[in-house]
Amino acid sequence: MYGIMGKVALINLENQQVSYIELKETDIRKFLGGSGLAAKMLLDDFPLDLDPLDPRSPIIFMNGLLTGLSIPTAAKSGFIAKSPLTGIWNESTVGGRFGMQVKRCGLDGFILVGQSKSPVYLVLTDDHILFKEASHLKGKDVYETTEKMLEETGIKGEVACIGPAGENLNHIAGIMIGGKETRAAGRGGLGAVLGSKKLKGILAKGTQIPKIKDKEMLTALVREANPTIKEYTKMMHDFGTAGGVQGVEANGDLPIKNWTLGSFEEGAQKICGQNMAHLGITVSHHACFACGIRCGKDAKVSVGPYAGSIGHGPEYETCASLGSNLLNDDVEYLVAANDICNRMGLDTICAGNALAMAMECFEKGIITIEDTGGIDLKWGNGKGILEFLMLMAERKGFAKIFSDGVDAAAKHLGGIAHEFAISVKGMSVALHDPRAFTSMAIGYATSNRGGCHLENLTYFVESGAYKGHLFGFNKTVEKHNDENKAELAVKMQDLMNVVNA
Ligand code: SF4
Repeated sequence: MYGIMGKVALINLENQQVSYIELKETDIRKFLGGSGLAAKMLLDDFPLDLDPLDPRSPIIFMNGLLTGLSIPTAAKSGFIAKSPLTGIWNESTVGGRFGMQVKRCGLDGFILVGQSKSPVYLVLTDDHILFKEASHLKGKDVYETTEKMLEETGIKGEVACIGPAGENLNHIAGIMIGGKETRAAGRGGLGAVLGSKKLKGILAKGTQIPKIKDKEMLTALVREANPTIKEYTKMMHDFGTAGGVQGVEANGDLPIKNWTLGSFEEGAQKICGQNMAHLGITVSHHACFACGIRCGKDAKVSVGPYAGSIGHGPEYETCASLGSNLLNDDVEYLVAANDICNRMGLDTICAGNALAMAMECFEKGIITIEDTGGIDLKWGNGKGILEFLMLMAERKGFAKIFSDGVDAAAKHLGGIAHEFAISVKGMSVALHDPRAFTSMAIGYATSNRGGCHLENLTYFVESGAYKGHLFGFNKTVEKHNDENKAELAVKMQDLMNVVNA
C-alpha cells in the first residue's frame, strides 16, 4: 500500500507488552486514516462503556493518510478516545512533526491501554518500543519534559507529552507536541487520559519513508501548488492565525466578555498578530513538517512567572479565549497566559472559557475575593488571569473548581452559574460567535465532539472566503437568514471528516 505503513502498535502499559495490528487495505480504502480509521478500530475492538479514565479505556494515536509525505499542510495526526470532559467520542487533531516521525518508525499509529505501575515515557524507533522510567519528570512542564526526554535518550526525535494539568487528570488537559514550538492536541481532555495511564510522553524517531507510487508526479504537483499557496497564505506566514483577529472582530465573530458583547475594536488592534510583530514580541517563525506556510510564531514572554522565555505564540483561538473574551487587551499578559497553557498542558479554548465564566461569576458576586484567596478576577486583570490559570493547571485552591471545564464548575457552584457556562455537550465552544455566522450554531449543536469549530468551518463559506461548490454545496446563504444553512452544515461536516482522516 502507498503512503501508509500498514501497521499499528498496540501498547499495554500495565505489562509493558507490545503487539502489532496489520491494517486491512479494505479498511484503509473505506476509512482513510486519522480519526476515520481510529473510529473503526474503537468501535470494533474496544469496549465503549468504560469511564474515559479507566485504565482499560484505549487512546488511539492515528496518522492521516498523507501524514509524513512532503505535502504542505498534510502534517496532521489525531489522538482519539472517549473524552473525560464530555463522556463521548473525541478526536483531537494536531500538527507538528510527531506524526511524521511515528510514520518513519514504520507505524501509522499506536493504541495505548492499561496503566503503568509508575510514571513512564515511551521511545519509538525503527525497531523498538522502549518503556523508560519517568518518575523524575513528575510535575515537570511540557518544555522541561521535552528537553529532558531528548537529552537523556540522546535521540533527536519529536516528543508528545503532558504537563502537570494532564498528570492532575484535569478534564481540560491537552497532549502537547514539539516542546517550545508547541502544537496542541488540546480539545476534550485527552491529556488526562495519558495521565490516568501514568504515561508522561512519547518520543518518536524513525528512518522509514512511506512508499509513494509516483514520487516525481507528487513533487511536480507540490511544486505547481506552492506559488498559489504562498500567494494566499501571506498573512498566515507573517502573523499566524492571530493575524485574523481584527477581521473576525469586524465581522462580529469575536467572542467578547464571556460572549456578551459585540465590539472590541481597539482591543483587537492590541492583541492581534500584527501588533505582536510590530512590538517585536514575535521573534521568529516555525512550521509543521513539509509546510512552507510557517504559520507558527515564536513569542517572547515579558511578564508573569516565565518572563524572559520564548515559546509558541498565541493562535487566533487563544487571542479570543484569553484576550477578548476576558476583556484582556494587554498583549503581554495574553502571551504569558498562552505560554502558561502550553507549559502546563492546558487546552487554551477550554481554559479561557473557564476563566471567562469565573470572571462573570466574580462580577455577579457568585464568586468573591475571599473565595479566590485574594485573586482579583475583575475583567481584563492580567495578573489575576495568570495566577488563576496556574492554580487551575495545578488543581489547587478555589481555581480547581474550573480545572474540569465550565460544566463541572457550574455544577459545583449551583444556582444561576450554569448561565455563564458556554458549552455544547460539555465542551466549551470554540471562539467563533454563531450570532455572526448562524450556520455555526447548527454546526456546534450537531458536531460529533461538542462545541467544535474544526468540523464546522461554515463561517468560511458564509463570509465568502471559501466557495461551497468545491464540496458540493451549490446554494446561496445570507448572513442573517437561516435558509440552506442546515445543508451547508451537513456538507461541511462530511467534508471535514474526510479532511481529518
Ligand atoms: S505550519 Fe501552519 S499552515 Fe502549515 S501545516 Fe502547520 S498549522 Fe498548517
